[in-house]
Amino acid sequence: MIDYKTDADGIATLSWNVTDRPTNVMNEASIAAFEAAVKRAIGDPMVKGVIVTSSRKDFVAGGDLDLIRRIDGIEASMAASGPVSAILRRLETSGKPFVAAINGTALGGGLELALACHRRIAAADPGIRLGLPEVTLGLLPAAGGTQRLPRMIGIGKALPYLLEGRKVAPEAALEAGIIDEVVPPGELLTRARAWLLAAGEGAAIKSWDAKGFRFPGGGPQTPGPMQIFFGASAALMSKTQGLYPAPAAILACVYDGCQVDIDTGLRIEQRQFARLATSAATKNMIRLLFFSLGEANRLADRPRDVPLRDYSRVGVLGAGMMGAGLAYVCAQADLDVVLLDVNVEAAEKGKAYGAKVMDALVAKGRLSAAQREAALDRVRCTADYRDLAGCQLVIEAVFENREVKAEVMRRAEAAMDADALLASNTSTLPITSLARNSQRPERFLGLHFFSPIEKMPLIEVIRGERTSEATIAHALDFAKRIRKTPIVVNDCPAFYANRAFGMYPYEAMTMLGEGVAPALIENAGRMAGMPMPPLALIDEFSIELLYKAMRQARADQGEAYREQPQDAVLTAMVEQLDRPGRKAGKGFYDYPKEGGKRLWPGLAKMFPPVPEQPTLDEVRERLMFSQSLEAARCVAEGIVSPRDADVGALLGWGFPAVLGGVLGQIDTLGAEAFVEACDRLARRHGERFEVPVALREMARARGRYHPV
Ligand code: NAD
Repeated sequence: MIDYKTDADGIATLSWNVTDRPTNVMNEASIAAFEAAVKRAIGDPMVKGVIVTSSRKDFVAGGDLDLIRRIDGIEASMAASGPVSAILRRLETSGKPFVAAINGTALGGGLELALACHRRIAAADPGIRLGLPEVTLGLLPAAGGTQRLPRMIGIGKALPYLLEGRKVAPEAALEAGIIDEVVPPGELLTRARAWLLAAGEGAAIKSWDAKGFRFPGGGPQTPGPMQIFFGASAALMSKTQGLYPAPAAILACVYDGCQVDIDTGLRIEQRQFARLATSAATKNMIRLLFFSLGEANRLADRPRDVPLRDYSRVGVLGAGMMGAGLAYVCAQADLDVVLLDVNVEAAEKGKAYGAKVMDALVAKGRLSAAQREAALDRVRCTADYRDLAGCQLVIEAVFENREVKAEVMRRAEAAMDADALLASNTSTLPITSLARNSQRPERFLGLHFFSPIEKMPLIEVIRGERTSEATIAHALDFAKRIRKTPIVVNDCPAFYANRAFGMYPYEAMTMLGEGVAPALIENAGRMAGMPMPPLALIDEFSIELLYKAMRQARADQGEAYREQPQDAVLTAMVEQLDRPGRKAGKGFYDYPKEGGKRLWPGLAKMFPPVPEQPTLDEVRERLMFSQSLEAARCVAEGIVSPRDADVGALLGWGFPAVLGGVLGQIDTLGAEAFVEACDRLARRHGERFEVPVALREMARARGRYHPV
């Protein structure tokens, strides 16, 4: 795990080489090996100085997340994180100089190891990233990162790295004072040796271990940093609503730990880490953001016996909002695109959209002009179906109209290669019903993208009744090729994401209709951690659109249509009040010309608030539990797997990661407590809160959607 070498000049080289894992992770075995190597170097009188480096592409990665997620109890946490912190402190105070020769990316524990060394030299490779991203998974740097970085570069400069998990390339790290030198990769070890050989008295003593240490930029109780703490606490609350414990714990580590000596500070850091590592919030984030998302991106469920499909050419039918975005995303992924619309001019309009998106990227320096040209060259605009020959996949994104879609599908299939896939990006028409227009329904499926496609990472891969498993596997290959995250969903009205997410705006409108104060509804949504309050969100995607969908459903279903609780609000907003949404400048909110928005005061007249208002918690439950409940129904009906349900909620509509996803929310609360709450809500508000049988049984058996 650690290659150990000494030379005639008394320089020991400790090179991390964890071969049984993809990176140099810090786990029990590698830490024990590192500890032994450090002790050997310290104890060997022939060794004058030590280089710590890596034999692999990356430097050293952080803690093993699988270990961290299985930590059970404070004692276990201290036992897991304590040894790393202790050995780093040991090498720091050993009296012998240690230099980190950073040959590759060093994130989390890897960078903390480097911070404990007496000098940090990195290879000049702009692909290398240095940072402490623990916070993004609900953790904190527990190997001294919260204590050493502020003592090195000052509290104000350290906080963004700790609180936002900012990652930087070596040059930027040098500028920030995180590392001391950047050298050509080939010279890394020579320079490290040269520094050690020249290191004089005092080179192995950190400033904070020397007499008279002063914080760069002032200690935590001095006016500058005091202001920074006030500001950071306020900003944190407004950004996270206090839902995410990690940034608050990091602030506490820095504030408390920097007022005492570093050894006490390191103990404070250990305790705060243990508090996080044992919390449901952190376990949720690790499971969802690392494991579940990782599995979805790796296509863990893809049938292995189906050969991989390589894509080079894709057809897009309809160059409107979705088609234009699709063509752009495919071209960016180096695919040739045939963009077809009723005439070439209409297709060109769609292509122009991609050009505009790329102009902005070029202006920001994130894309070169040549890359922009190359991507545009790959998009061929046409109105001729014969151009679809040679496409491995054709995606239709024409008007949401059955007849138009049927006609387009018929013409496309006539021109497509025999083994090519045909997909529909419909948002409302069941795939099995559309498949009736297809001559080869086993190669027809739904690929439901979200708008704007270039920003939204999710694709719902929808399996119709007759879609083959090979088609699903090949659709997953396509998702990976264009760097999107797929979830696999069985066909049903509205599919999975819109069906479960729809409960959030619907429940909000239902409450508005009942006389719940609009500000209370909006605050409850915001404070629950949703990216946008529900009424503001409906305004964004248009009240009128939902109103039209309701009218359509009514027309389609005739007598069978069941009035929904939110229907009256939609009708009043559109028919009586003529307030169709944000685009028209009036919806649940007013949008003054000078910018900003405020809840429309007229709502109080139309939907007078009742004198007995519910508590914030009751409103939050209705908004959040209704989404989880609908997802639970989808799982019970076999529409989606629990993992994909939670990944879909995260990427499709920004459901708060700290809850672990829509089903994670049920697990966090405990299925029994969730079912009890829903039963109470059902008695008070009606059958839409009734729990599916499978969930009730799971609660009785004390089961969970995800293993702990
Ligand atoms: P749009 O109205 O912006 O674009 C539709 C395009 O299809 C237009 O350019 C039109 O000229 C073209 N078209 C119409 N008839 C055609 C024909 N016979 N042959 C070739 N081209 C034809 O619509 P959109 O918002 O891009 O939606 C397209 C599809 O994507 C719909 O099925 C919609 O439900 C679905 N969808 C939309 C969203 C969204 O947020 N807009 C999200 C997911 C899915």
